[in-house]
Amino acid sequence: MTLQITLQIIYLIASVTFILGLKFLGNPSTARKGNLIAAFGMGIAIFGTIFLYTDANGHHLKNLPLIFGGLAVGTVIGWLAAKKVQMTAMPEMVSLFNGMGGACAMLISIIEFQHIQSTFAEPMAIAALLIPGASAALKGRLLIILLGMIIGSISFSGSMIAYGKLSGKVKDKSFGFQQFINIGLLAVILAFTWMAMMGESNQEFWFYLVLALSLLYGILFVMPIGGADMPVVISLLNSFTGVAAAFGGFLYDNKVMLVGGILVGSAGTLLTIVMCKAMNRSLLNVLIGNFGGGGKAAAASSSAGFEGAIKEVNASDTAILMKYAKKVIIVPGYGLAVAQAQHVVHELETLLESEGVEVKYAIHPVAGRMPGHMNVLLAESNVSYDKLVEMEEINPEFATTDVVLVVGANDVVNPAAKTDPSSPIYGMPILDVEAAAHVIVNKRSMKAGYAGIENELFYKPKTSMLFGDAKKALNQLVSEIKALG
Ligand code: NDP
Repeated sequence: MTLQITLQIIYLIASVTFILGLKFLGNPSTARKGNLIAAFGMGIAIFGTIFLYTDANGHHLKNLPLIFGGLAVGTVIGWLAAKKVQMTAMPEMVSLFNGMGGACAMLISIIEFQHIQSTFAEPMAIAALLIPGASAALKGRLLIILLGMIIGSISFSGSMIAYGKLSGKVKDKSFGFQQFINIGLLAVILAFTWMAMMGESNQEFWFYLVLALSLLYGILFVMPIGGADMPVVISLLNSFTGVAAAFGGFLYDNKVMLVGGILVGSAGTLLTIVMCKAMNRSLLNVLIGNFGGGGKAAAASSSAGFEGAIKEVNASDTAILMKYAKKVIIVPGYGLAVAQAQHVVHELETLLESEGVEVKYAIHPVAGRMPGHMNVLLAESNVSYDKLVEMEEINPEFATTDVVLVVGANDVVNPAAKTDPSSPIYGMPILDVEAAAHVIVNKRSMKAGYAGIENELFYKPKTSMLFGDAKKALNQLVSEIKALG
């Protein structure tokens, strides 16, 4: 009994650490601590369960060598993957790990279904079902198992496709009436779930059919979504995994699994909503819009009818402009992450500050390819957090800025979001870089960004293009500023 009370207290502490962890993850300066606190909570919940859990007959968990073997293999793989992963490949890894969570929920449901099946087979159990309410309770349990299995398998196969798309192994594929087929398939899954609940004799057949169709649905659901929309989809699938885990918590009457699942489910849902809002798009548009997918983000080399012409600038002229400026704002974007230019951009910032220039970074909420991408990237190179200024706060400052240096950003500074109602990004709040005296844009070519559209900013009289890979261009800029003495 005392063991069980101790275990419940451990679960309570773990649940609190999850909530604290999430809270701390909300700010780059405390995010690392938040991660460690939640990981500690997860650790005590796992080991508490392994060593203290007892079933109704007082039996402890068996198969300890198998459990520890699995833990060891998972820990080594997870550790190595997290150590080796490039910052730009982070969404892929999150997707893969999320898929594993979905697979876990799916497997738990399969095991528990088999458990119920074998219980059914015992004459004593059949007699027990005649007790009023017992049959309804069993049906309720079966429903939870089925729902956990459906959501878990959709999350698993969907995440695998998302991973494949992000790593370039799977191409966007949609065919006519795809959305109708998906809705139809979902209806079929629900109908067969009903059969699995009611069909007493061939329950097993319906159960495994639902499993197969759910896996298929996960694939068909993610397949047509624009490749570049994957981060939003991953966040959505992440919330599915949370819900599936919460069903597991119901099944085992395990409070920490329930709380953890609900937290993941709600955090994933909120993140999905926040990402859609920051891009000014509805979730429906993300799911059926095929936005920024494959071929759409092709090279945009013509001027698309904009007035003005492209003006090129070299590193030495940019160096003079920046060294003698009073205030410089750097706008980091996806290209900074691709080039891994976070360290050299920090070097540029400290160099300019040593010359008496005030330097800040303008952080757009959806710059890069994952929420908080720029914060994480710049934190890696020890840029001070108070230099990272959010969009709403920095926008009024552009008017008093001498030079804006846009590094590998495109959509987040595209004026079409404000001026062109036909643009796919119309309505998305952007950084008002045009208000500054000079705008220098560093990118490699005139190619479009995520949204696959032209950017009029590049043709404006105030704008000069500093072409080249961000890391190379910034290194050159640093050398030129140093050479000025
Ligand atoms: P964009 O994707 O709009 O543009 C990035 C630019 O970087 C490209 O135009 C590219 O041009 C340039 N680039 C690529 N590699 C390099 C390099 N090595 N050196 C220099 N430049 C390079 O990025 P933004 O950050 O401006 O916008 C992010 C976009 O992603 C938004 O549309 C947002 O909605 C979307 N998004 C963001 C999510 C998030 O959570 N952050 C999630 C989902 C989508 P070139 O090839 O010519 O070099």
